[in-house]
Amino acid sequence: MSSPSASPTATPATWQVCGSCGSEIPETDSHPRCPRCRGLLEVRHQTPAQGGSALRATFDARWGVRRGVLASGVWRYREAVLPTAGEHILSYPEGNTPLLASAPVARWAGAPELLLKHEGLNPTGSFKDRGMTVGVTQARRVKARAVACASTGNTAAALAAYAALAALPALVLVPKGQVALGKLAQALAYGARTLLVRGNFDDCLELADQASERLGVYLLNSVNPFRLEGQKTIVLELLQQLGWEPPDWIVVPAGNLGNTAAFGKALVEARAWGLIDRVPKLAAVQAEGAAPFAQSFRDGFVQLRRVEPRTVATAIKIGNPASYERAVRAIRDTSGVVTTVSDDEILEAKAVVDGAGIGCEPASAAAIAGARRLMREGTTRPRDRVIAVLTGHVLKDPETVARYHQEIEPRPAGANRPIEIEARLAEVERVMAG
Ligand SMILES: *Cc1c(COP(=O)(O)O)cnc(C)c1O
Ligand SMILES: [Zn+2]
Repeated sequence: MSSPSASPTATPATWQVCGSCGSEIPETDSHPRCPRCRGLLEVRHQTPAQGGSALRATFDARWGVRRGVLASGVWRYREAVLPTAGEHILSYPEGNTPLLASAPVARWAGAPELLLKHEGLNPTGSFKDRGMTVGVTQARRVKARAVACASTGNTAAALAAYAALAALPALVLVPKGQVALGKLAQALAYGARTLLVRGNFDDCLELADQASERLGVYLLNSVNPFRLEGQKTIVLELLQQLGWEPPDWIVVPAGNLGNTAAFGKALVEARAWGLIDRVPKLAAVQAEGAAPFAQSFRDGFVQLRRVEPRTVATAIKIGNPASYERAVRAIRDTSGVVTTVSDDEILEAKAVVDGAGIGCEPASAAAIAGARRLMREGTTRPRDRVIAVLTGHVLKDPETVARYHQEIEPRPAGANRPIEIEARLAEVERVMAG
């Protein structure tokens, strides 16, 4: 393993390390994977010079800043994200999402201390914006001429928007017929060149990987380590919202496993840097029909077996997760767990979150269904402080909402059937009386 430098004074603030062979490469190298072994790269930062309480004070002093990059809920934590980004930063701004209490959701989940971190309230309606602000910033630093990604939809929406903000051409590859309508609409509206691939997400990912190399386009899939640096700020922001008093559990839906990996890295760094003194446990939740990570967890993480994914929650409909290895580390480092929920449970949880006035997309509801399952199994206890991350906005997937409320037979308990009437007051009175 080569060291970035022999003398500590010359050590760069940030560099990249290959998770497989340990090679170290400079921060501004634009290879999407390790140039030596094609392993996944990871961003490393030197431990900030400030100690934990000084760093907390720095972050706290920026809370409520209204203009400039420090108004972003990502770049507020720039020392932990990309300290050297300087004038290249491209921010909407994003982040600053609320931490919500909801009595009906907590009751349904059987988790009295449950709070919801609503990442659907980001600029394009999902947490992907937190990764994309950093990814597109990095694209500018490496002087990329264009950016590309494969996506189940939300990454495409975020990439399309941030590329447009940066005036960079964008290419997105999505599985034809398997992307929620709101997400496809966004990719088109923001002007990305959109390819509908006759295949599933995993096919799109392989294709984007090959195309980026051939065409010299900067790849912004979640294999891109800079995106994960941005996604870490979901955890940093929720810790700050809790006054740096860590919860007992953080529950997150898991598909390609970028977020699971980013959360683990954020928590390990937060403890190493003295921001927190105890690491919460991570719970990753998969849909039963797309659960290669959960299967592997049950087998002690011996290996990953690719599956043919099937679930109503298209954002986590992934059979061959790219960030598997680093997500395994995240679960181990936090003494976490991986669990599964059925599509019926996902839709029921979604109806509860939506009906509480909060709203989320199906994949996000997997976190709530997962929180209920963990409580029922006794993995979590009623007094545990649990944060569930709502990853996407209710408007992302209007077709699933319409089907659930208007079409599914037999009528689900949470279905809110619309009632068609003649345009007469008596009809309104009849319905209101009944
Ligand atoms: C991308 C996404 C996920 C899955 O996150 P991974 O990092 O791929 O595990 C879950 N929910 C929503 C809404 C998403 O957009
Ligand atoms: Zn390598």
